[in-house]
Amino acid sequence: MNHKEKQSITHYISIRFAAIILIMAAIMILFISYFSNKTIYFDIRRQIRRESRYDFLNVEVRNGKILVDKNFIFRENHVQKLVLDNKGRTIRGHYPDKELNNYPLNQWDFRRVKCSSGYYYIFDRPFLKKDIITNKQILVIIRNIGKETDFNSQYQAMKYISYTFTFVISIIGLLLIGAVSSRLTIPMKEIKDTADTIGIEGNLAKRIESATAFKEMDAMIQANNRMMDRLEDLFHQQQQFTSDVAHELRTPASIISAECQYLKKYGGTINDYMDSLTVIARQNAKTNEIITQLLQLSRLEQGRIKEDFEYSCLKDLIESICEAEPLRMQKQISVQYDLKNISIYMNISLMAIAIKNLINNAMKYSENQSFVKLRLWEKDNLAIFEIEDHGCGMDEETQKHIYDRFYRADKSRNTPGFGLGLSLVQKITELHKGSISVKSKVNEGSIFTLSLPKEAAISNMRSQEAF
Ligand code: ADP
Repeated sequence: MNHKEKQSITHYISIRFAAIILIMAAIMILFISYFSNKTIYFDIRRQIRRESRYDFLNVEVRNGKILVDKNFIFRENHVQKLVLDNKGRTIRGHYPDKELNNYPLNQWDFRRVKCSSGYYYIFDRPFLKKDIITNKQILVIIRNIGKETDFNSQYQAMKYISYTFTFVISIIGLLLIGAVSSRLTIPMKEIKDTADTIGIEGNLAKRIESATAFKEMDAMIQANNRMMDRLEDLFHQQQQFTSDVAHELRTPASIISAECQYLKKYGGTINDYMDSLTVIARQNAKTNEIITQLLQLSRLEQGRIKEDFEYSCLKDLIESICEAEPLRMQKQISVQYDLKNISIYMNISLMAIAIKNLINNAMKYSENQSFVKLRLWEKDNLAIFEIEDHGCGMDEETQKHIYDRFYRADKSRNTPGFGLGLSLVQKITELHKGSISVKSKVNEGSIFTLSLPKEAAISNMRSQEAF
């Protein structure tokens, strides 16, 4: 037995799928933040660089001195500007945070730096200016500084929208997983409850009625219900069988018991004893016949048959059985043979039982001096054996049940028999991988047809015990 603790399927599915969703959400957020930060960075860089493009027009150098025109705008669109000389010394302008003064000159470089008041971007734009006195080229730097929080990049909004979207999708995903996994378990719970009802109350008629949305679940429920139909059927058959056996055995048993009581009370002469013994022997033979046929059926059903198969002549077997049939003489039935010389692979003793039952029935359900026709021919590697009688025949309803154990048509009740013969014939035919069929008309007669493979198609026989 497996003692490992079992976990709930809802739990199992929810945890795994929730983990997948959370991992995917985390990856999405990392992805969004990486690419949006990059985009925001380039957007701010573009804004800051654009601001200082024409500033060189408002700066001039005179005799080595850098002079800033009054038109120079030191703060515009969140960008603070400072004019620096080639050593990085401030000529004009103010730093928005003193710590920014520590960052050395770096021409054309765009940097993101951290100060105690927040993140800033620095861009040092250089240009060469001609000294209007000495005509020498002097390097002038415009340092552009922007505070990160002052910039309003459209990408910033997109970043937060994407975060919110990922979060909402993840929550919806988690809720859906919870709903789906608990929906999955509803039919399972129903299956369990039904199984419990059957197990505890013994109510075999119970079925699972679940309108599940899942195809596989539906298939499982239907398979389960089919299995229950079959089990209920088998259970009823079993009940029917037990009551049939009891019923069939009770008649000879009560006759024997009545004979014994009679003998005890009134039996005096040897003749009384002889009469009673005859009755007892007849009833005993009947009981024996029922038991033998039941045993044969049960062995056939359980596959406990000796693999005693051989090629043998079917024609000879049919003829010898028909010749030995006592009813033939008793009822003066004439037999017409049309038998081809065909050998098939068969278990002779079982096939003899099948043929005997069919011939016996044909004569049993015919009037005296009637005639029976036996035909044997070959078609597509099959041996076809046909028994035609001109007896009472059967209606369609009767034909449906003749292979059921203990079934006897109402009008056959006055004829000896137990309703086991055709069940045996059917089982024996199946064992030989053959088939049986019947055509019949009430008061006109019946034709039983056995189709048997000639070759050894019998491969899956289990042998344990001699038949
Ligand atoms: P039994 O003959 O012992 O009653 P079977 O299993 O051989 O049992 O047959 C079952 C029933 O099928 C019979 O009771 C009878 O009603 C019907 N049946 C079988 N063979 C014939 C036949 N040749 N003609 C008419 N009815 C038949």
